Amino acid sequence: MNWIRKFMIGRYGTDQLSIALLAVSMIFSILFRIFYSSLLNILSIVLLITIFYRMFSKNIGKRYQENNKFLKYWYPIKNKLNKKMQKMKNRKDYRYYECSGCKQQFRVPKGKGKIIVTCPKCKKTMVKNT
Ligand SMILES: [Zn+2]
Repeated sequence: MNWIRKFMIGRYGTDQLSIALLAVSMIFSILFRIFYSSLLNILSIVLLITIFYRMFSKNIGKRYQENNKFLKYWYPIKNKLNKKMQKMKNRKDYRYYECSGCKQQFRVPKGKGKIIVTCPKCKKTMVKNT
């Protein structure tokens, strides 16, 4: 195992972009098994080569920049997904509404009947069924 450690000194290693590329590569690989499209297989292999190239790259600055560019797009998507997951988890206890004035989203506890809610952002009041 020591030679691996020595080999990896000064090399970039893995990052979030590598993991994302690996996930996409695996999806292509699965799709290839379903559709037998050699294009999918080639794409999957190209992605794997890219991952290894980035892992063993000694141009750490450039790889770091690539990862940052990826994260700039990925984090907003991840946040949206997290919010959706949170809503799914809470859908038994809360009802989600959008303010008719400013589109701000908010939640109210379920099972309280008709209630008057005040938008937390623009203070508009609405009558909602819970
Ligand atoms: Zn509002």
